[in-house]
Amino acid sequence: MLRAAHTRTLLDVLSLPTAPFVEGRVHAYIEDFCRKLRRVTAAHDRAGNILMRYRGDSRRIRRPVCLSAHTDHPGFVAERMIAPGRLRATWRGGVRPVYFRGARVRFLVGNEWVRGRVRSVRTGGRGATRRVETADVDVRRPVPAGAIGMWDLPDARIRNGRVYARGCDDLAGVAAMLCCLETLSRRKARTEAYFLFTRAEEVGFVGAMAACRQRTVPERCLVVTVETSSQLRDARMGDGPILRVGDKATTYFSAATSYCQAIADAVGKRDRTFAYQRKLMDGGTCESTVYCQFGYEATGLCLALGNYHNMNLRTGRIGAEYVDLADFANLVKWFVALTTTRDPYTGTHTALRTRLRKIEREHATLLRKTRNAVVPAADRS
Ligand SMILES: [Zn+2]
Repeated sequence: MLRAAHTRTLLDVLSLPTAPFVEGRVHAYIEDFCRKLRRVTAAHDRAGNILMRYRGDSRRIRRPVCLSAHTDHPGFVAERMIAPGRLRATWRGGVRPVYFRGARVRFLVGNEWVRGRVRSVRTGGRGATRRVETADVDVRRPVPAGAIGMWDLPDARIRNGRVYARGCDDLAGVAAMLCCLETLSRRKARTEAYFLFTRAEEVGFVGAMAACRQRTVPERCLVVTVETSSQLRDARMGDGPILRVGDKATTYFSAATSYCQAIADAVGKRDRTFAYQRKLMDGGTCESTVYCQFGYEATGLCLALGNYHNMNLRTGRIGAEYVDLADFANLVKWFVALTTTRDPYTGTHTALRTRLRKIEREHATLLRKTRNAVVPAADRS
């Protein structure tokens, strides 16, 4: 159900090394991928975010869609060798300190991984906010400053309809956007759409905030953030990609959310394999909150994620993140529908209003006629 080329893209992207502020490998892949696509042009803002623009003809869409995903994943950056065989590395991202104990890690030196094991960590904050700041790692070879470090997990692989990787958050979102770009370009779709790839989300939406300040995304866009989000009891993987009405901090722009839902309903009508969910994913906060705070009309879609931030709650140890392949395939379909629909976004609840008006008209007479049955005689006028 997922095109072979899209499976390849997904596996490629999920195997790329990345961490907050060192997203260069992912960005190089995105640039390279899009250079081969017709009708796609790249722009960069001063924060290093990439904005890809697809333009299929000269027709300008009044309110085009801009999809957005972040290119980092919680990880390490090498600081310096503090003794022979001992590296100090900075940690960036949200993983609970207990998971670092004796964990195996790997650092990218040139094009090779150098493996190591966490010996000790330094933390800051207290209680629930206690966070790892640096880790001392036993390594087999010297690791130069600036090298990317990740958990020592294998490259992405598919097993039982799921894809397991060092990081799905948010590389699966990145891959889905690339699959959408490829589809638009291959079909010569007559549309206009934007694709923003942001940096340093895991330390607090730093890339997205810079993009907002610089107005990297045209203000007329409907911004749809794509994330992977820890699966919840009632938001399970395999039940379809999720229309995210909000997160831990805010609820998103209501008309934008409804619009994505109407598009999904239309896809579902013509494609029996399509499924989606609509949920409040309040496990964490996502970039949509930032876009809304900066005045964009934004909402979010996400994939239910297993082993969020590599924390396997069952074993208490580091594990591969995973998402469902059918969910991913349906997310790509949703993106393509959003970016090619003939029913452009208007910023209002047009369909909902029409439906409400219809109900009102249908029952107006009955409502008036039965009024005497419920209003006491003394109050009638
Ligand atoms: Zn994350």
